[in-house]
Amino acid sequence: MSVKQGPIECSEAVGQLWDYLDQAVSPQDQEKVERHLSFCRSCCGELEFARELRGFLASQGAGELPEQVRARLERFLADL
Ligand SMILES: [Zn+2]
Repeated sequence: MSVKQGPIECSEAVGQLWDYLDQAVSPQDQEKVERHLSFCRSCCGELEFARELRGFLASQGAGELPEQVRARLERFLADL
């Protein structure tokens, strides 16, 4: 069975973004996400935001999210 390695959709890329950052995706999926990010500006923005947010969460531990960040996160999740 041959698997066609076509470009993935934004929804798929964004859906895997967090796992991608956690390196919890397979090398194959990682490559697919990277390939998508290489040409999709919109998802690149999401990746940067996710990275920022993760860095923040890591530095704050279980602290409260600032209102601004939480609002953006909710919007981000709602768009998925
Ligand atoms: Zn995209």
